[in-house]
Amino acid sequence: MTALIETRDLTTHFYTYEGVVKALDRVSLCVDRGITFGLVGESGCGKSVTVRSMMRIIQEPGRIVDGRVLFYGRQRQGEKPVELLSQTEAWMQGLRGDRISMIFQEPNAALNPIMRVGDQVAESFLFHRRRSMAEKILKDLADPDTRVFLGTRRLQHTLYARTASNPDAALLRISRKIPLLKRWESRIKKEAFRRATAIIGRLGIAHPEEVAQNYPHNLSGGMKQRIVIAIALACKPDLLIADEATSNLDVTVQAQILDLLQELKETEITSILMITHDLGVVAESCDRVGVMYAGTLCEEADVSDLFAGPKHPYTVALMDSVPRFHQEGELKTIDGAVPNLVDPPPGCRFHPRCPHVMGVCKTEVPELKAIGTNHKVACHLYGDKGENDV
Ligand code: SF4
Ligand code: MG
Repeated sequence: MTALIETRDLTTHFYTYEGVVKALDRVSLCVDRGITFGLVGESGCGKSVTVRSMMRIIQEPGRIVDGRVLFYGRQRQGEKPVELLSQTEAWMQGLRGDRISMIFQEPNAALNPIMRVGDQVAESFLFHRRRSMAEKILKDLADPDTRVFLGTRRLQHTLYARTASNPDAALLRISRKIPLLKRWESRIKKEAFRRATAIIGRLGIAHPEEVAQNYPHNLSGGMKQRIVIAIALACKPDLLIADEATSNLDVTVQAQILDLLQELKETEITSILMITHDLGVVAESCDRVGVMYAGTLCEEADVSDLFAGPKHPYTVALMDSVPRFHQEGELKTIDGAVPNLVDPPPGCRFHPRCPHVMGVCKTEVPELKAIGTNHKVACHLYGDKGENDV
């Protein structure tokens, strides 16, 4: 397996009036190409902060304070990955929605209520096409022939000035003045709408041409979520991030959307990073899984290995708290509460709730270590300080 995206020691803090919230503490995980990676854990454990940090969309008062995010994308083997945290914001805008897309939990918040859904799907594709066209023109500006073609100096100046912050707006403005670009714009618009209808059709929606003409309020919850997925897929991304994408849907629609994502992984995109608090969803749709607790990654393994033999005491407790069909007696819960991340417990963040706590757990942070093949765990029980060395 080759890596698609990888985080190394990713650390994110939020600077609030109550103090510094250490929301993410040295999270290192790796999503390989062609797999569905599930990120699980209780609410507030840092799953969303992890993916938002990866995409660099952490908002104030949050800040990524340390670590690296390496994106390999569709590069050939041996080529160097791109370090996302050191790229400019303009470069990241080109990446988001094009190479990495995200589906959010709440389709109503993600869709524009006054825009036809077909246009919304087309818009994502248009944004990136305009952007690469603007970049191409900028490059061509170095060539004297193009300068003649583009005409006045003022025009060039406008393009330069506007491209720095918003290339597609610049292109739209310039295209009104240059017939060649005007024709390009109208051709690309038609292509975008054709593509949008085709994508909507592929998502199992009957009569896509009609649906594309609707506004969000005309559609059901499941349909809206499909449109959100269509927007994310418009540019055929390398990675699709689904943040609790099915949590708000009823179980039958949820099953349909999960099947759809599975199918899309095989036909359209290389990998899916799925955030969920639902272990059932993980068991059904993921190949590999990372378990998070209080801003740390405590275990990472193939789904079959994790379900057959969870190693970290938190993962064990999490699995025991899921109701089973033939279960007798009471459902187990995890004692204690999730710690306050302004002042997290020293050493292992799980130690106040852990039934196997040892002296070392209270002072030393356990490193994420490989145990066996493809299984990693951050716990002193496994390794030279504990007894259960594997
Ligand atoms: Fe429990 Fe110690 Fe392992 Fe933390 S490091 S999970 S406290 S045994
Ligand atoms: Mg979340």
